[in-house]
Amino acid sequence: MTEVTLITGDGIGPEIAEAARRCIDSTEPGINWDVKEAGIEVMEKAGTPLPKETLASIEKNSVALKAPITTPVGKGYRSLNVHLRRKYDLYACLRPCKSYKGVRSKYTDIDLVIVRENTEDLYAGIEFEKGKDDTDELIDWLNNHRESQIRKDSGISIKPISVTGTEKIVRFAFEYARKMERSKVTSVHKANIMKFSDGLWLEVSREVAKDYSDIEFEDRIVDNMCMQLIQKPELYDVIVLPNLYGDILSDLCAGLIGGLGVAPGANIGDNAAIFEATHGSAPKYKGQNKVNPTALTLSGVMLLRHIGKLAEADKLENAVASVIAEGKSVTYDMKDDRNDPTAVGTSEMADAIIEKVKSS
Ligand code: NAD
Repeated sequence: MTEVTLITGDGIGPEIAEAARRCIDSTEPGINWDVKEAGIEVMEKAGTPLPKETLASIEKNSVALKAPITTPVGKGYRSLNVHLRRKYDLYACLRPCKSYKGVRSKYTDIDLVIVRENTEDLYAGIEFEKGKDDTDELIDWLNNHRESQIRKDSGISIKPISVTGTEKIVRFAFEYARKMERSKVTSVHKANIMKFSDGLWLEVSREVAKDYSDIEFEDRIVDNMCMQLIQKPELYDVIVLPNLYGDILSDLCAGLIGGLGVAPGANIGDNAAIFEATHGSAPKYKGQNKVNPTALTLSGVMLLRHIGKLAEADKLENAVASVIAEGKSVTYDMKDDRNDPTAVGTSEMADAIIEKVKSS
């Protein structure tokens, strides 16, 4: 048996965690789930949103399926998702974006993979607030050392991009492409403007590409990439990006495949991997057995592949695809009319997926 941590999250988390777990188990993958809590609800009981037992379980098993967790706005704890990524150096955010027949979208036949760097760039958290002493000091220093001047009433965010971080993520993208038999990696940047951060990213991307002559390599400037993805998404395959562009383009690509309800993801490091849907905890739907379990279930498909259960992963992905294609036992968001009374609930959609797995 493989031990896997299941973090049930909050909001709609527990409902979709249960649905996804049942779907995964129906493929008989030999997983022993170590069920743990995190988020707002456990905060009230345990005094922390991320109990020690949850962290210990991730450390012991190194693989987790995680349902969404609410981040309170403006008060309370900071994002646990960001905390987990930092704590376990989950430097790669992997988001496959694939069209499934039957999903409402303007596009068909999308099959892209976004590989986003998760630890550096403008998200490194190095920020200087307008009017603070250290901000004024920094601005004075910069203005004394450079011709171009920064206005005194500025706030500043620093964008670090390192050789180490870039090399790790670009290598990850190539290794993923090789393992999944994909043919091309595109590195995205704005090196024409930010020569010392994005320029370094591009230089390192080109160096790493030399080690993978079996896989095609190209680069694109981020604004052009956005237009190309809308006009000719079929030209792209694996796309590797620094943190901020990766965040924006993963939502763009989620839009191409029909939105958040069907977009899976994973945060992966050298010692741990956490699989989770792209969407959040949608608190307004909590406890209603209403939302779509597909994104977390497809994150489970990625998890199965990660632990080497390839046949089980294919079986589950085919079952999800077939339920969506039939369009009968699907949640409200997959119906043409969101008020369609034939829409089923979260657990009923999971039942339909399980039935397909069993009959395959
Ligand atoms: P959200 O993704 O939770 O919900 C936005 C809207 O998308 C919902 O109102 C709903 O209409 C739709 N939606 C989301 N998931 C769906 C599903 N499975 N099926 C059908 N429709 C679905 O985004 P939000 O409202 O901005 O965030 C809510 C909370 O989730 C915030 O606290 C945020 O910080 C957190 N969040 C957590 C994660 C994570 O745990 N990885 C990711 C994103 C946001």
